[in-house]
Amino acid sequence: AKRAGRARFRCFEFGMDANLRERRELEIDLRRALALKQFELHYQPFLDLKSNRVIGFEALLRWHHPRRGNVPPLDFIPLAEETGLIVTIGEWVLRSACEAAANWPGDMVAAVNVSPLQFKSDTLLETVSSALERSGLPASRLEVEITEGALLDDTENVLATLHALRDLGVHISMDDFGTGYSSLAYLQKFPFSKIKLDRSFVAGTGADCDAILKAVAGLGTSLGMAITAEGVETDEQLNRIREERCTYVQGYLTGRPMTVDRIARFLENGQQR
Ligand code: C2E
Ligand code: CA
Ligand code: CA
Ligand code: CA
Repeated sequence: AKRAGRARFRCFEFGMDANLRERRELEIDLRRALALKQFELHYQPFLDLKSNRVIGFEALLRWHHPRRGNVPPLDFIPLAEETGLIVTIGEWVLRSACEAAANWPGDMVAAVNVSPLQFKSDTLLETVSSALERSGLPASRLEVEITEGALLDDTENVLATLHALRDLGVHISMDDFGTGYSSLAYLQKFPFSKIKLDRSFVAGTGADCDAILKAVAGLGTSLGMAITAEGVETDEQLNRIREERCTYVQGYLTGRPMTVDRIARFLENGQQR
């Protein structure tokens, strides 16, 4: 029995080593990904529910690795965050999204995800202004999406950065609303122009999700913030968010994430809704 126990223990140890090794390899690959041009941005449209028109696109990072294939963001963004690599990757994302958006028609907006670490690094403001300057994109056509994780500590600095971004003319959205601590005080304290209600409440059925959707929509109205319903996949869901008077919709129903070269055609043909 003792021997079996030890063998199992060694197996367990071996398993841990394998995980650790795999993680290190992923990190090495991630470090090289930018230089090897393995990243690409896909863009998902969001629509204004009153006019039914596309008013912008959210940039979503894609990593094409020759051996791993397409690595989903949720499999590498946490590691990029832990290792600090997200700062340089995030700079590339901001620069690329601004350059792409500068070619879009009208007042089309680019929404960019900014991770908590990026947000706390003291280079964010500089990165944003230089991305705007180099691309020629007006600040009012850039939107920065942040999650609650960025707001949890170091409140004074975060607040200063948010106000500085806002003073530049950049819009700020609270992403994944409802999934974290979701302190209502955040909405009052930080200068958001938009709340993105997480997909789980939009796609979820049942009285709870309905009540939350209603409450957040009402909150948006009373605080003067736009509400985006994320992850809308069905006509039923679309009808529900219309009834609750959400401002914007984003989801597979109104448009999947697409490569940059598809955008022009999508805007010409794809606006049936
Ligand atoms: P997110 O910011 O909440 O982005 C929305 C995610 O929902 C995207 O997943 C999008 O493809 C997916 N989605 C959109 N509509 C639907 C729908 O109707 N149904 C379903 N099932 N899913 C839908 P994606 O691209 O896999 O990204 C996952 C997360 O990775 C993002 O969640 C964001 O937190 C993070 N991420 C992506 N790109 C970046 C980036 O450039 N920087 C940072 N820091 N994070 C990023
Ligand atoms: Ca987002
Ligand atoms: Ca989200
Ligand atoms: Ca999310």
